[in-house]
Amino acid sequence: MNRFEVWKLKEHVCTACGEDLEEDDFRVYHRNGDEDDNDPDNVDLVCPDCYDKMDKTARGETEDVLLEIEEDMPDATRERKTLEYLRRSAE
Ligand SMILES: [Zn+2]
Repeated sequence: MNRFEVWKLKEHVCTACGEDLEEDDFRVYHRNGDEDDNDPDNVDLVCPDCYDKMDKTARGETEDVLLEIEEDMPDATRERKTLEYLRRSAE
């Protein structure tokens, strides 16, 4: 799956901060850290700012929260999980 297919598949908001994303200005975040793993369940769209922050400082923390949410609410919609992520990361 390439970048454009990821874009079509996902909500056009940053998974980390909830900002609206532009098609020419977003990053693909890989949940498991493997940039070659483009399984739809492994990729999220994020804004460049959050992507930089995740890579440098909060990557482990972000993944922990995302994993926690997957475990707590596996059947929730993507939008619901994003909201939940925003809620938990703001605590
Ligand atoms: Zn963001």
